[in-house]
Amino acid sequence: PTPIPPPMPDVEKVSVSVEVCLKHTSTARVEDVKCAVERLLENRSMSYVDGPIMVPQDDPFLEEHVQRICICDTDEWLENHDILLFWQVKPVVHVFQLSEEGPCEDLSEDGQPSSFNEWILPAKEFDGLWESLIYESSLKQRLLRYAASALLFTEKGVDPCLVSWNRIVLLHGPPGTGKTSLCKALAQKLAIRFNTRYPQCQLIEVNAHSLFSKWFSESGKMVAKLFSKIQEMVEEENNLIFVLIDEIESLAAARSAALSRSEPSDSIRVVNALLTQLDKLKSAPNVIILTTSNITTAIDIAFVDRADIKAYVGPPTVHARYEILRSCLQELLRAGVISTCHSEDNNFMLPSFFGLKERLSTIEVSEPLAKLDLCDQLLRAAESCEGLSGRSLRKLPFLAHAALENPFNCHINKFLQTMIATATRERSEL
Ligand code: ADP
Repeated sequence: PTPIPPPMPDVEKVSVSVEVCLKHTSTARVEDVKCAVERLLENRSMSYVDGPIMVPQDDPFLEEHVQRICICDTDEWLENHDILLFWQVKPVVHVFQLSEEGPCEDLSEDGQPSSFNEWILPAKEFDGLWESLIYESSLKQRLLRYAASALLFTEKGVDPCLVSWNRIVLLHGPPGTGKTSLCKALAQKLAIRFNTRYPQCQLIEVNAHSLFSKWFSESGKMVAKLFSKIQEMVEEENNLIFVLIDEIESLAAARSAALSRSEPSDSIRVVNALLTQLDKLKSAPNVIILTTSNITTAIDIAFVDRADIKAYVGPPTVHARYEILRSCLQELLRAGVISTCHSEDNNFMLPSFFGLKERLSTIEVSEPLAKLDLCDQLLRAAESCEGLSGRSLRKLPFLAHAALENPFNCHINKFLQTMIATATRERSEL
């Protein structure tokens, strides 16, 4: 038997988030579910790794109300892929229910779609988005910690004249690297993590490009309408509001286009109105402004100055490419679109990038060679995708499938070969 570890003081333990998603039919009190899960974790003497924990079937209360329990962000504490033992961990349980309302698009008076969408968070549509985005160098953790600190400073009433910070995030980098998705996923995560303080949470998604181009003459009115709506939401102190402004570079474009024309006043006024409104919003404690740009140079300098965290989101590295393709293949196996020689494709797990490197260097005798060969092929596929964006990578398996001679229940080896050929073709068309 394993010796019982000595008790550890709480201060020395690391906090690990445990997210508990309620079934959409559940009407249980969050507090009750939280207690039940905490009890479950106390009795669990297993190490902590990211991923789902089984909802125990002998617990009718959890069975009835909980859809899934997931351990998150343990990798933040782990160097060299060690293991977090249960007695080193202080689990922090977050219970939430997904909103199934979908985007609520505001129609303008003439029935035209407006330039913004509103979501109630956490939304069903963004479920799993955070986990699906793969980046190097702990970009996601950095963003999460930054936003959490900003909310904490505000909450504690830190004087902004003495310590300055704001709640504006700017993600920039080439198109298709997941910036917009990352903003949405971040908002969703924060909505879950801060739901005790802010029981209501909304995301307003604005496309700056359409704000400035489609209805240019209407833009002034649009900006005014948008911000009066946001102001209203912000005044409710239990609301946490995320404003996502995509393609913020159109601000600069609109301004310089206006300057080069003879009558610049209109558009300048709109851009300035937007900046002034953003400044006003900054003073509200319960707003986080998330922005994206496909280029850095042309971003309105007035805007860049306002952003506190500017993170570059680059094209996926070979590690990220391997993981993106692995998740795609795993999904196609699950859905039964491709198959392995094993009878249970559903349970067939392709090793992660780190697992693979270890295995290739110390091939275990028990390891079926076919599986290793498969992973080696997946690694080659990832290498052959250099230069493709995350967006293109997620489409690649689909394109490869369409290129198959025999698309019905294709064997994974054949599929990988076709995927490498498709990637080569895609790259030549870049
Ligand atoms: P951007 O805003 O940078 O143009 P998007 O957020 O529109 O990019 O990304 C489109 C899709 O591409 C994402 O929803 C995701 O499926 C995929 N994607 C992009 N980058 C990554 C990544 N690093 N890891 C996983 N998926 C990615």
